[in-house]
Amino acid sequence: MPATPMAFLSEPEPPRFTPLTTAPGVTRIVAPNPGPMTYHGTNTWLIEGEDGLTVIDPGPDHPEHITSIATAGPVARIVLTHTHPDHMAGAPALRGATGAPIYAWGRPWAPDFRPDVAIADGESVGPLTALHTPGHASDHLCFALAGTKILFSGDHVMSWNTSVVAPPDGDMGAYMAGLRRLLARDDELYLCGHGAPLPNPLPLVRGMLSHRAGREASILAALRDGPLDVESLVAQLYAGLAPHLFRAACGTVLAHLLKLQSDGRVASEGSRWGSHS
Ligand SMILES: [Zn+2]
Repeated sequence: MPATPMAFLSEPEPPRFTPLTTAPGVTRIVAPNPGPMTYHGTNTWLIEGEDGLTVIDPGPDHPEHITSIATAGPVARIVLTHTHPDHMAGAPALRGATGAPIYAWGRPWAPDFRPDVAIADGESVGPLTALHTPGHASDHLCFALAGTKILFSGDHVMSWNTSVVAPPDGDMGAYMAGLRRLLARDDELYLCGHGAPLPNPLPLVRGMLSHRAGREASILAALRDGPLDVESLVAQLYAGLAPHLFRAACGTVLAHLLKLQSDGRVASEGSRWGSHS
């Protein structure tokens, strides 16, 4: 199967500490935590409502960033797509500054964190309806905005790059199922955890699925001649990989192997993996 290309978006570095209008009643403030995993920084989304602002992902605990959210308007609620620190570390400070409760999936990845209100799949929170989309993180939620075709897609689908899916918390089978779940919807704009707004998102979602299916096929092909360990698979599959990315690639390949194992297509033999086909 030829892989559908992934058309990622780039954008110039956005201004900080100021809400940028994205859609009617929806603004974003880009947190000052740029990096190789976060692009220009975490997108904090602000949605206007009659009872105040719904804030999605306060981002890192950066005082000037948190102040810029707290002073954008009265905050009714704080909602987390997942509890990785680049999304949630600033949530307690924002709650302290505003008194707004924190909503998140009930079994958070972050060990010492408990949301004030646990959200289940399909539940509504203010103007949002939650979709549980584990894969990047076991506690990951996307949020559909009522009355629109906007989906806040968190780190499940990002406009600028593929998501990291690595064990133990990352789950490739769940991640791919989550992409298929989004393909069954008719959202027209994704507002992501990092990167520019993504209009017409479904072709990119299809491209991400076929990228992962292609990686799966190349792992199975590499195992045809006999069992291999993860490191040898990475060396074969990622020719010319920069050394500092080697561990991350091992995590991705292990995530694929665990998914293929639960599909009954590979089995582990000590530290090596063998194909059934
Ligand atoms: Zn993130």
